[in-house]
Amino acid sequence: MNLSGVNLSRYTPTEPIALYVHVPFCATKCDYCSFYSTCPPAEEFTRSVVDATVDQAHELLARLGRPHVRTIYIGGGTPSVLAPRIFSRLATGVLDATGQQRVEEWTVEANPESISASWVSVLADLPVTRVSVGVQSFSASAREAIGRSGSEGAILRAVEALRRGGFVSIGIDLIAGVPGQSPEDIVFDVERAVALEADHVSLYTLSLDPGTPIAGRVARGEVKLPPDEAVVEGVDAGCRRLAAAGIYRYEVSNYARPGRECHHNDAYWLLEPSVGVGPSAVSTLPGGDGTALRLTTDAEPELVTPRSFLLEHFMMGLRRARGLPSDRVVERFGAGPEDFVPRTVARWEGAGLLRCSAEGLVMSDEGMWHLDGLLSEVAAELSPT
Ligand code: SF4
Repeated sequence: MNLSGVNLSRYTPTEPIALYVHVPFCATKCDYCSFYSTCPPAEEFTRSVVDATVDQAHELLARLGRPHVRTIYIGGGTPSVLAPRIFSRLATGVLDATGQQRVEEWTVEANPESISASWVSVLADLPVTRVSVGVQSFSASAREAIGRSGSEGAILRAVEALRRGGFVSIGIDLIAGVPGQSPEDIVFDVERAVALEADHVSLYTLSLDPGTPIAGRVARGEVKLPPDEAVVEGVDAGCRRLAAAGIYRYEVSNYARPGRECHHNDAYWLLEPSVGVGPSAVSTLPGGDGTALRLTTDAEPELVTPRSFLLEHFMMGLRRARGLPSDRVVERFGAGPEDFVPRTVARWEGAGLLRCSAEGLVMSDEGMWHLDGLLSEVAAELSPT
């Protein structure tokens, strides 16, 4: 990222930021994954990438006037494939770059197969507050269908190791809509996460990203995805099962016990200032004039226009169960969200899929399934400038 010639002063954060740290390594590549990651990592190479990432954190945070960092999220890729001492080097280096002893929330992503006792003990020495475990499915056939390594035994051992390490806030990531998966299979995975006393569950629907092996298999007719209705039925039933266990939906695909929501991700959904370091990480720095500066590690800085940034607020904010807050939109764009797209709001409110109040815009449960349709209308109605 070349910052020479960029006037950062207009985009210097005046509120606490979210800091994302990208670890671009995985043990194996899953068949549905379009994220940037390489595997298997050679230790010398991982060390050089980690050192460059820490240097980038020091430089970027210094250039931004050392903002207060509220949350750190180390994701990937698979942070747990780093050798424990390399992971420690990354985590302590990044914390040092913040100039803080701790942050309000610190999440680390991990995959069950690479959660070793030594890795957990490194984690336990850091002020990490949450661990997000990439399970995807407890079923061997579902994991095989998406080329995901691991086993149920590894998942159970990993969660047990984290509990022994003192981690109480454990999230489990699941995926729905896998070839061969029935609605009951989706609920089975949810049941297993509840039985492990997860206090955060992500339940994303499989998307076919172009160029991935699974997209090729589906295009060639070698495998079929379950019908949309079956996925909706399974996710809705899973959502009810989670609610019965006290784990509530707070975003389209994320569920948590009260107080265990991921504040880092909420900062993204609200387009709060965020800084990303590591290969292909992205920073979003709102200005005071409706624009935002977007920095990507391996690309030139980009100025986001007020129209594009406002559209992003609809795209991200409406994913939240609490919706897109009016005050945030007024503060940044000078009017409430319904003032920019009155026809779309009236139509969707009339259909019972959206609620509009002084607090903001909130999708109904059913509306959440039609978010893409609403966003197309928002994009069409927003003035082109
Ligand atoms: S572990 Fe995650 S980042 Fe790595 S290949 Fe699989 S889905 Fe992609």
